[in-house]
Amino acid sequence: MVSSSNLGFPRMGENRDLKKIVEAYWAGKVDEVEFSNTIKSIRAKHWTLQKETGINIIPSNDFSLYDHVLDHVLLFGAIPKRYEPVVESEVEDNSNGFRTYFAMARGYQTKKAASEVAATETEGAFATKVEKKIDVGSFEMKKWFDTNYHYMVPEFEAEQQFKLTNHAGYTAPKPVHEFLEAKALGIETRPVILGPISFLLLGKSADSNKPYTTKFDSLVHLEALVKVYEQLFEQLVAAGVKSVQIDEPVLCFDLLEDTTRADLIKNAFSVAYNRIHKVAPTVNILIATYFGEVRENIELITSLPINGVHIDRVRSSSAAFDAVLAKIPSTWTVSIGIIEGRNIWKNNLNNSIIVVKKAIDLFGSERVIVSPSCSLLHSPHSLAKEVGYVKAEVLDWLAFAVEKLKEIAFLAFVFNSCTVSVADNQVTNVESNNVRKVSKLIHNDTVKSRVNAVTPEMFKRINKYPVRRDAQRKRLTTLPDLFPTTTIGSFPQTQQVRVARQNYKSKKITAQEYDQFIRSEIKACVQLQEECGLDVLVHGEFERNDMVEYFGENLEGFVFTANGWVQSYGSRCVKPPIIYGDVHRPNPMTLEYTSFAQTLTAKPMKGMLTGPVTILQWSFVRDDQTRSQTCNQIALAIRDEVVDLETAGIAVVQIDEPAIREGLPLRHSDWNIYLEWAVNSFLLSSTGVKDSTQIHSHMCYSDFNDIFESIQNMDCDVLTIENSKSDLKLLKAFEKYGYTNEIGPGLYDIHSPRIPSVEDMKNRVEQMLKYLPANLLWVNPDCGLKTNNPVTVKHALVNMVKVAVELRAAF
Ligand code: GLN
Ligand code: ZN
Repeated sequence: MVSSSNLGFPRMGENRDLKKIVEAYWAGKVDEVEFSNTIKSIRAKHWTLQKETGINIIPSNDFSLYDHVLDHVLLFGAIPKRYEPVVESEVEDNSNGFRTYFAMARGYQTKKAASEVAATETEGAFATKVEKKIDVGSFEMKKWFDTNYHYMVPEFEAEQQFKLTNHAGYTAPKPVHEFLEAKALGIETRPVILGPISFLLLGKSADSNKPYTTKFDSLVHLEALVKVYEQLFEQLVAAGVKSVQIDEPVLCFDLLEDTTRADLIKNAFSVAYNRIHKVAPTVNILIATYFGEVRENIELITSLPINGVHIDRVRSSSAAFDAVLAKIPSTWTVSIGIIEGRNIWKNNLNNSIIVVKKAIDLFGSERVIVSPSCSLLHSPHSLAKEVGYVKAEVLDWLAFAVEKLKEIAFLAFVFNSCTVSVADNQVTNVESNNVRKVSKLIHNDTVKSRVNAVTPEMFKRINKYPVRRDAQRKRLTTLPDLFPTTTIGSFPQTQQVRVARQNYKSKKITAQEYDQFIRSEIKACVQLQEECGLDVLVHGEFERNDMVEYFGENLEGFVFTANGWVQSYGSRCVKPPIIYGDVHRPNPMTLEYTSFAQTLTAKPMKGMLTGPVTILQWSFVRDDQTRSQTCNQIALAIRDEVVDLETAGIAVVQIDEPAIREGLPLRHSDWNIYLEWAVNSFLLSSTGVKDSTQIHSHMCYSDFNDIFESIQNMDCDVLTIENSKSDLKLLKAFEKYGYTNEIGPGLYDIHSPRIPSVEDMKNRVEQMLKYLPANLLWVNPDCGLKTNNPVTVKHALVNMVKVAVELRAAF
């Protein structure tokens, strides 16, 4: 019998239930008991759903309250020393462990600590029973491979100790506890555990602060870590676990490229898996790889004492996949990741049947598992709420997590029992795929010929940066000579803003009422910025739900979903639009609100746009043409918008590209091709303006060191970057490469509820000045303020401007 499996289910739930309960818990609206019960019921619902869909191998321990990498940090007791006061306060308060977990996720500040940096008490500050001063930041957050999911970066100290630790309210380590929880519901699951090598390589050594891609220093902790894996596996065996999915996605990297480290890596895998096998010889172990081709790493995988491997067939070429199959040991099972876990298109079942059949011919059906390409974490929950919302023609081309599980179950079913309903299903699937190919909804000849007619001049500014800088300073007369201040764009989206948007979308208020509301928010926001004394103002982005949805809604070629939420980080979800057809801009998108905001102030108002690469990267993209073609279509639409803003008198335009790095292929040999078209697309969007118009861009949550040249090639006049969590390694890179344009490394972490003090931020600038000349430095937060509390924001910005004023006086 061919088996069907899932590698991970989206945690949020049908109605973002997880987000709601976690945020209610943070706000103190539910107690720990209600919190625990609700999240337990979410897990139960998801297991039951998978079982009812006919999936044989159902994952457990794929659930997480914030992030699965952070879960493993806690599981292995790798809590950095700076959280000790939080752990102690929990013991004193007789609290049950959520506090420490969420402190690592989001930072933690008690009321006493908060009141020292701000005049009034703030919402992000917590009370402890014995009021103490605790003020600790969060872990660093990074993109999970090339997805838009963010994980918390494990931190290892020099003499790192590990200790198997239970999560809050659990009576056993998380994988064991959740396995037993499912078992109690009559559902036998396969626990998912992040593999020891990936866990270490995704982390950083707190002292050396090495990025994860090529430096492997954290492997020195292998021995200590493997001991806790052994203990964990002993407990899994005792709990009756029969098979385990161990995720080692780093196996899709150029792991062995650095020949001086190759043996170390190979040895690490060998030690870890032999030791695990020794304590759990009866457990069926499958190593899961995803997001790319395993290529030469298959030799390493097949040298391990395991029982099978999962291969991402969607991200592997047919030849690469066949080459891997040829190497599979004769007793192993192969999990074929044939259903795209990261995009939303209906599978072409006939093509998949051919792939699965080939594997069955090679291995026999008992050894073949039909699976999604990766965890369905990156896919929205289900299409149920899209009926009547997404145009029927497009809806018929889609499959979300629940529908993908049905496709998986179906593919296994085809080989297990061929019935009439199988044939029917296949026929409708073929029809949907054929209709999509030729649909008039997709193809627009004007757009296609405009992209083809793009000339090399359209990728360049008129003059080089020094000339532009003079022109800009001449135009921007209100700007101080040194340390100009600005923000990254969004201001807090209060409940009121969200309610207004919902009311507008559900037609409870008219377009005119909504417009009036947005304008009143803009007015208040401009006033607030004037009060804080900022130099380059923004309108606040109140009309936008997120960075991409708003633009997608105003462009042709996109559709939107009612409920297609995907987890981005922690409780934050995004609803990526679907790019199904040729993209163009029927009307200006941001002109009205930006121009309106400019009428409210004598200071420059910054036009705020999302860049083409980020729009592409954070959307579900059509799979019937290259990504670069789609990206250039978007770039031309943004270019038109930039030029329109300039014509309307806007002197500063920011084109955010936070996603440029996450689009990098996992293999270095594939990088150049991507970087070339991605940077060109950004240039196409940003270079249509005069010298005197200042182009900003913003990036966050990535290491940029290794793509530095490309960042320079983007040639923006001002680049603001997230820097408050990544220490100073990035600044060193700017210095090393002799970056010449202006730059605003974030002065404080906006994702933390803490209020940054003047002293903190001043120290930071002083550090920066070691690497960057004062005349290039901007003063700004590290990212948009959308998710912040309005009170916190005001205090933080007042403090931030104070820093700039004091620095100017000192220079
Ligand atoms: N302009 C966006 C904002 O301020 C940028 C967000 C981001 O970098 N992710 O929200
Ligand atoms: Zn950002």
